[in-house]
Amino acid sequence: MKYFILFGPPGAGKGTHAAPLVKKYNLLHISTGELLRREIAAGTELGRQAAALIEKGELVPDVVVEGMIANTFAANPHVAGFLLDGFPRTVQQAMDLDEMLESRDESVTGVISLMISDEEIHKRIRGRALVEGRADDASDEIISNRIRTYHAKTEPLIEIYREKGIYNEVDGMGSIEEVQGRVFDTVDKLI
Ligand code: ADP
Repeated sequence: MKYFILFGPPGAGKGTHAAPLVKKYNLLHISTGELLRREIAAGTELGRQAAALIEKGELVPDVVVEGMIANTFAANPHVAGFLLDGFPRTVQQAMDLDEMLESRDESVTGVISLMISDEEIHKRIRGRALVEGRADDASDEIISNRIRTYHAKTEPLIEIYREKGIYNEVDGMGSIEEVQGRVFDTVDKLI
């Protein structure tokens, strides 16, 4: 089973590139952000608690997203692999993922990291806000907090995965087609 992590700051294009990736390599896409937004739309208790954090640009607790990941793994035993998008997002989540995979005699196949500048993050999310209407895209203040959260809690994962020798950085600047070509070239080498 292949376990790919699509990594990068908010707005880097993870959602955009996940769709063609899962299609080409026959993977199951797990976006923790998407799963959380589904809970919010369904009005569940979990959704209500998550919404309060997401709308401030904070992370939801590790145990919540890890539960969603474990459920999705368990419900899909016959796929070729998974594309994790938006998870792991903290050092603890990365350690817990390793443990989850070890117990299945598996490990992370590779990390594909889309990199863009903080300035580009602001620009893209402001554009996306007009199209998608996500509550956490609504103000510069929330976007700035998400960028801060990314640098403080998520960025340290780069060094961890680099040390493991499974970190692959892709320049996320440029047209969607250009970036997609780079992403495919990277995954081709990992398959
Ligand atoms: P983006 O990549 O634009 O930040 P996501 O859809 O991946 O958007 O995530 C939206 C929000 O959902 C995050 O800002 C965070 O509050 C919450 N979230 C998503 N994934 C996780 C995670 N692995 N751990 C904690 N919170 C998460």
